[in-house]
Amino acid sequence: MSVLQLHGLVKRYGGLLATNELSLEIEEGEIHAIIGPNGAGKTTLIHQISGAVVPNQGKIIFNDRDVTILSMHERAKLGLCRSYQITNIFQSYTVIDNLSLALQASKTSSMRFWRPAIQEKTLFAEARQLAKEIGLEHQAQTLACALAHGEQRQLELGLALACKPQLLLLDEPMAGTGHEESAKMIELIQALRGKASVILIEHDMDAVFKLADRISVLVAGRIIATGTADFIRQHPEVKKAYLGDEMSDAKEAA
Ligand code: ATP
Repeated sequence: MSVLQLHGLVKRYGGLLATNELSLEIEEGEIHAIIGPNGAGKTTLIHQISGAVVPNQGKIIFNDRDVTILSMHERAKLGLCRSYQITNIFQSYTVIDNLSLALQASKTSSMRFWRPAIQEKTLFAEARQLAKEIGLEHQAQTLACALAHGEQRQLELGLALACKPQLLLLDEPMAGTGHEESAKMIELIQALRGKASVILIEHDMDAVFKLADRISVLVAGRIIATGTADFIRQHPEVKKAYLGDEMSDAKEAA
């Protein structure tokens, strides 16, 4: 069963077709990576799925519901959430406070400032659980600004998980991370299996081949191939258009 369907999406920037008649289905529970060369339109696509950018044409169906013109906030409420950038972290707050705030914001009663103590306790317990899920339980009381870069990316993942996504959009979660940090992030994304479907945009091919159930290759706003890692590795058009160097790098790293 598909959780998300994209039908004939088009996004134009002046004369440039950043998304060109793009159609794709994301299956329930899968980790689906979208790869492609610089400027292929990956970010523009994820922005249209999250609601940050409205397509010129086409439809976005999430759980059988047309969400094409819904705002990011409305989509997040339905369980279609994107990862925040590090700039969304409150740097002078602790890990647990960042997570508590994100959890509170995701609840419909977030505008209620007077909350019974029992509710606060529940929120704190949820935040602790989330800190554990993202591997930061020992840094719960650490200020976000004192975290290493990879840990900040883990916290960023935690903020996205606070919205209890059914479909999570991850835009380059490995960016700027070292080898150990990206191994940790791969482990955390693996652990999301069974909890959420994931669309992953990532330049780190090692991570993509380890994580993705299916991969779509985007070139000049169009998907030229969708399939398993093996299918994509052997696809002649993909090899020609994009994968040559990255694939051999990933093989060496594996
Ligand atoms: P990268 O891997 O380098 O992040 P990408 O695959 O994410 O690239 P996009 O950032 O989506 O690609 O860009 C696709 C095309 O659309 C590029 O040619 C880019 O210059 C153009 N583009 C993106 N956003 C805008 C905008 N707001 N205004 C004009 N052109 C844009």
